[in-house]
Amino acid sequence: MKTVLITGAAGFLGSHLSDRFIAEGFKVIGVDNLLTGDTDNIAHLFGNPNFKFVHHDITEYNFFAEDIDYILHFASPASPIDYLKLPIQTLKVGSLGTHKILGLAKEKGARYLLASTSEVYGDPLIHPQTEDYWGNVNPVGSRGVYDEAKRFSEAMTMAYHQYHGVETRIIRIFNTYGPRMRLHDGRAIPNFIRQALKGEPVTVYGDGSQTRSVCYVDDLVEGIYRLLMSDEVNPVNIGNPSELTMLDLAKEIIELTGSDSKIVFEDLPQDDPKIRQPDITRAKEILGWSPKVDRKEGLEKTIADFRKRLS
Ligand code: UDP
Repeated sequence: MKTVLITGAAGFLGSHLSDRFIAEGFKVIGVDNLLTGDTDNIAHLFGNPNFKFVHHDITEYNFFAEDIDYILHFASPASPIDYLKLPIQTLKVGSLGTHKILGLAKEKGARYLLASTSEVYGDPLIHPQTEDYWGNVNPVGSRGVYDEAKRFSEAMTMAYHQYHGVETRIIRIFNTYGPRMRLHDGRAIPNFIRQALKGEPVTVYGDGSQTRSVCYVDDLVEGIYRLLMSDEVNPVNIGNPSELTMLDLAKEIIELTGSDSKIVFEDLPQDDPKIRQPDITRAKEILGWSPKVDRKEGLEKTIADFRKRLS
């Protein structure tokens, strides 16, 4: 039986990954300091003999007695409202945390996968974004703490691969949504769904013409699994290329929830990317991956989960 260690296991993506790897017959060691994660997301795994939770801050020294075959590095605050509240922790987990987890991968001879992000492209000047685009990031803006930490993480990951021969993988994740996102996560989809279900005004920032391309969590998890099991060392975009404006997304969610909420316009946050769409040619060619869940189906599943948690 193979063992996978997942950092950020109590978070949105970490918890879905824990489920997937348990289902695939792995032993899962889930590590989280619960800064933005929540044990509610993994409570159903407690008591499973193949799952172990360790409450730990990975920016401190990491000791694990077990043999570890794979490491998925997913720990980080991940919503723009978190970067504003937790800027130093965001920088620390991406830099010190990444360094220490790479050190653990080297020590254990484990294959390591880094959760990187479309944020490495910043406010992109090419569209859609291909992996060979270097990005347009403001290092001193409010998002810089996340974007630069992830860019550093990628550089550190490549250095451990090239200098120490650690087997590494880098996924660049585009906007992903699904059940278990925090009700007050602050990102567009959880905000819009919560507001619509409560009959509150739906807050669109700016004029809502900025675009995103949103991917359902199950599709993302499949992409991560395939990348981990592949031989690909260079970054791979995983996301759903179906792009829409935030105003259209708000309208779609109001309709799907059957809400009579009205849309209100609020200030656009600093450095908010104007457009974003993954070019997934490499994911298709290398991993045979493409997204399967369309937005209506994915949003309906997410709305059902929010409805349950709000009641
Ligand atoms: N957004 C919005 N209303 C909200 C939350 C977010 O209009 O209540 C916008 C935000 O300004 C951005 C887009 O939705 O243009 C996606 O934001 P999110 O925080 O989900 O992720 P990002 O891709 O910006 O990291």
